Amino acid sequence: MTKILVIGAGGVGSVATHKMAMLQDVFSDITLASRREVKCKDIADSVMAKVGRQIQTAELDADDTNATARLIEKTGAELVVNLALPYQDLTIMEACLKAGAHYLDTANYEPVDEAKFEYHWQWAYQDRFEKAGLMALLGSGFDPGVTNVFTAYTKKHLVSQMHTLDILDCNDGDHGQHFATNFNPEINIREVTAPARHWQDGGWVETPALSTRHSFDFPKVGSRNMYLMYHEELESLSKHYPELQRARFWMTFGESYLAHLEVLQNVGLTSIEPILYQGREIVPLQFLKAVLPDPGSLGKTTTGKTCIGTIITGQQDGQEKTAYVYNVCDHEVCFAEVGSQAVSYTTGVPAMIGAALMATGTWSGKGVFNMEQFDPDPFMAMLNDHGLPWQVKTLDQGLPF
Ligand code: NDP
Repeated sequence: MTKILVIGAGGVGSVATHKMAMLQDVFSDITLASRREVKCKDIADSVMAKVGRQIQTAELDADDTNATARLIEKTGAELVVNLALPYQDLTIMEACLKAGAHYLDTANYEPVDEAKFEYHWQWAYQDRFEKAGLMALLGSGFDPGVTNVFTAYTKKHLVSQMHTLDILDCNDGDHGQHFATNFNPEINIREVTAPARHWQDGGWVETPALSTRHSFDFPKVGSRNMYLMYHEELESLSKHYPELQRARFWMTFGESYLAHLEVLQNVGLTSIEPILYQGREIVPLQFLKAVLPDPGSLGKTTTGKTCIGTIITGQQDGQEKTAYVYNVCDHEVCFAEVGSQAVSYTTGVPAMIGAALMATGTWSGKGVFNMEQFDPDPFMAMLNDHGLPWQVKTLDQGLPF
């Protein structure tokens, strides 16, 4: 029985809160706090309507460590689940140390003025969390998150000597809008427009954004173009599995998304460099976010599926083997269950599972951890039980691209 504080009332926060409310034995008291309490109250009403449980709400600016620590103390939270934005990771980790609470997030810390996608700021908290006897679990979403657990599962059960890792993220959803991102637009566009980087023979290889493309036949979706990108879990996975000779991340994009993005980029609207507008500094990408649809509002109209997984080549019992582990998730099924589309769902459910494993002591430790450092089996079992069932396929022809 754990008292929990969830910070961030966006698409992911909404799903995680609904799912936590369904597990009363694990999460005894839930408080949802965010910059605007009205968004928390809307989610609380939906949780009451769908699950029949009352959750508490609060207004919080999580950039303020002292205010966050005070709220942790006031709610008695033993675990803080950070589903705000990556900019708040460090202030919330500080608040956890101050108030003596465990910590979980789904995205690595990002400085506001530079797109980095690096873990070192958060890994630097290792000693302080260890000394305080507290645990911080980083990246408990889908990617990072489930993809790290799929890798750990493959290593444990399917391919004992891993050679290459490819993470394949396909969102084949159609939201009916000309251009929209399926999670926070600012973070999403920063990620997509950053140069691609992959791990090869002990170092990083950088290539221009969206310059390497392959087609892949995704289960239940069909053949789609996917593009090489950098994604943060490559950093922790290449560190924790030094046997990997190569690790890459791929994401699918439709022609229309790419065409819109190219125009927005060409006219400077994706830039994070502040500009002067009518005597005021504004960041073009933040302005763009303000005019784009709120990802949380796309659930009602989104149809289609996501398919995210890992393909790992290597050896098992002296034989070459290629194992594909993946999940397929349907946008409309997610919306019917919790009122959100599949991108929020596939992130919010693993956040709930990570929190549940911490709350029950199934995953425990002192310090700062990535997902692959724990036994994957209880996490994989909970994915099957809580809406994200997975499949394993052996690819007899090896890696198909
Ligand atoms: P949203 O933008 O929908 O939600 C973020 C919420 O955090 C908003 O309600 C926002 O408030 C709130 N917030 C922002 N700043 C503060 C602050 N200073 N103090 C308190 N609350 C704040 O984002 P998503 O729900 O789509 O994403 C949430 C997180 O999940 C992000 O970090 C994202 O990167 C991560 N993510 C991870 C994925 C994974 O697979 N690992 C995939 C998708 C997302 P307001 O409503 O007032 O703006």
